[in-house]
Amino acid sequence: MFFQPDKENISIDNLKAVQEECLAKTIELAGRSPYYRKLFNKYGLKPKIKALKDIAKFPFTTKEDLRQSYPTGMVAVPFEEIVRMHASSGTTGKSTLVFHTKKDIENWAILVARGLYAVGVRKTDIFQNMMNYGLFTGGLGLHYGAEKLGALVIPAGSGNTKKQIELWLDLKTTVIHITPSYLFYLGHVIEEEEKIPLSKFSLKIAIVGAEPHSEETRRKLENIFGIKVFNCYGLSEMNGPGVAFECEYQNGLHLWEDHYYAEIINPDTGEVLPEGKEGELVLTTLAREGMPVIRYRTRDITKFIKGRCPCGRTHRRIERIKGRTDDMFIVKGVNIFPSQIEGVLMQIPEVDKNYRIVIDRYEGLDKLIVEVEVKKGFFDGELSHLKAIQDKLTNKLKENILVTPVVNLVEPGSLPSSTGKAQRVIDKRRL
Ligand code: ADP
Ligand code: ZN
Repeated sequence: MFFQPDKENISIDNLKAVQEECLAKTIELAGRSPYYRKLFNKYGLKPKIKALKDIAKFPFTTKEDLRQSYPTGMVAVPFEEIVRMHASSGTTGKSTLVFHTKKDIENWAILVARGLYAVGVRKTDIFQNMMNYGLFTGGLGLHYGAEKLGALVIPAGSGNTKKQIELWLDLKTTVIHITPSYLFYLGHVIEEEEKIPLSKFSLKIAIVGAEPHSEETRRKLENIFGIKVFNCYGLSEMNGPGVAFECEYQNGLHLWEDHYYAEIINPDTGEVLPEGKEGELVLTTLAREGMPVIRYRTRDITKFIKGRCPCGRTHRRIERIKGRTDDMFIVKGVNIFPSQIEGVLMQIPEVDKNYRIVIDRYEGLDKLIVEVEVKKGFFDGELSHLKAIQDKLTNKLKENILVTPVVNLVEPGSLPSSTGKAQRVIDKRRL
């Protein structure tokens, strides 16, 4: 069951042909933007390609390049054709801008609708979009996708938690779109503050994205709410959410290859890696008119999963994003992604819903501090109980990340919570 059967289970040969044709058009179109025109001239490149493999001749585009061409240097059509602008969240510096034509907006909605349909959302659903509206792409992106599908869309935005819960109850919301960290926080408010039994809610599906999270986090969220949680990936430079989406099998995210040409590279050398190897995802838009982007370095770490998915979609699957190259931190010479720590914490039953990683330096030595909220029942006044949990966490973390952390246990609800993208790591060495 597909939203666009002919596009989603297209044969591999036809998909390749579509990619080749669209890539040639994209390169030609990109050559009309001030940024790429200059770049092609600099490298003596003709805006023409014959085969997919010719893409290797073109240099990567980086977030820095987007910042350099700020605000409109990559726009490739007359400005009157542009109907919408979005910006990245600015997690790692100045936001970058992306411009869309009418067709681009329509295509984006279709890709999101494909993903929503793949995880079981239908026109009978009540879809509450709990992501920030505005420049950020998580709001309007999913909004138009869910409308395209025909669901009833509640544009709730993020925050205002009590109102969100009221809407869930009064409108019998069945599907939400939310960051995993905000969903945890909502669980806390419902259980601890409002004390509403979960049986009162009609919720079936949560679509989560915008920040890296582990498989263990997904399972924990599914257990807390008794729902299915699906992963949706995207970035503003490639429209926003909906670039890749899980299907009902929850075994990786189908990347819509008729709209994006994907490569995985070694982030240190730029070398393109063979299928199945982990590295940085590089994406080229294949159908975007307003602002084509060639070989964009996403800085997100993943790999392609080999083999076909039982759902029948031809588009290859990527693994959930392990983290961003710039999220990775090095403690005592060991490379660590926050998601590795999260994966360990979320398996431990005593751990509640929130955590924070602090890295500091004492007398020249790195110190990794993991602050963890522990479920209420364990704060029973018995120090030995807490000590046992602390030791268990320290050992489990050490086994996995090879560095011995200092584990600080705190009461539920005491760490700062987030209604948007969570800030999990505080590196005091850089402050
Ligand atoms: P910024 O790059 O400033 O955060 P965006 O709003 O465009 O701006 O965010 C896109 C980034 O968010 C992605 O490159 C990725 O790092 C992260 N992201 C989005 N969805 C997911 C997801 N499902 N899993 C992990 N990371 C995600
Ligand atoms: Zn599938």
